[in-house]
Amino acid sequence: MKCALVTGGSRGIGKAICLKMAAMGYYVLVNYKSNVVEAENTLAQIKQAGGNGELLAFNVADREQIKEVVQGWINNNESADIEVLVNNAGIRDDSFMVWLKDEQWDSVIKTSLDSFFYVTRLVLEEMMLNRFGRIINVVSLSGIKGLPGQTNYSAAKSGVIGATKALAQEVGRSGITVNAVAPGFIKTDMTDGLDEKELRRNIPVNRFGLPEEVAHAVGFLASKEASYITGEVLSINGGLYT
Ligand code: NAP
Repeated sequence: MKCALVTGGSRGIGKAICLKMAAMGYYVLVNYKSNVVEAENTLAQIKQAGGNGELLAFNVADREQIKEVVQGWINNNESADIEVLVNNAGIRDDSFMVWLKDEQWDSVIKTSLDSFFYVTRLVLEEMMLNRFGRIINVVSLSGIKGLPGQTNYSAAKSGVIGATKALAQEVGRSGITVNAVAPGFIKTDMTDGLDEKELRRNIPVNRFGLPEEVAHAVGFLASKEASYITGEVLSINGGLYT
């Protein structure tokens, strides 16, 4: 059984990636933190489209939960291979740095940067043994150029970009590629409160992107045909200057 693990698969970009992975023939492990209704909805849509998968609830900001749930799943499913890992779960909690609280710094760093390390390390060994794997990290424009009010988020995403490039060099010989996609403004719950009419004036294609447009790029990077692309950061931002 060939599997794709997608963190934060219950909503937004992660949900679209789950559907894309299912369409590519993967058994999809749909991770979520607390929104079981939306996670079940993602799984139902996977099944409606003729795919299959299961839910895997864990908080990516909690390394003990990651070890327990992900390692537990691997131990209980010895015949299954996690071929694709998409580190997508992320949160933002914006504030100018002068007012940024310890908890805001910690939660955003843990959710994006620490989770990259704790989840990826668990699936790497099997990928190395199989001499094939695809790791795709969902970062952000904010991690490339830095955005005011997002020192925590920019630092987390920038950290993942550095780790993507380093890990790509460690595991290239094992047939594993490690890439990142960096969305700009995508229509999800995360950008729900933003003023698209105002912000789109700076975006050359003049609109926010759709989760499916990010999922398409992730699908490409996950494909066998993308085997000579690694350590890359692909911007998906409608031409927004980075
Ligand atoms: P979203 O609509 O807010 O969905 C977030 C998803 O992540 C949900 O499935 C949520 O699960 C899950 N999640 C959050 N914290 C988690 C945790 N601690 N453990 C496990 N799952 C967790 O977000 P989105 O816009 O799709 O963003 C997805 C990724 O793209 C994030 O990494 C984000 O930083 C990045 N990104 C988004 C944009 C954008 O414009 N939307 C731009 C650049 C980058 P629950 O449903 O259980 O809460």
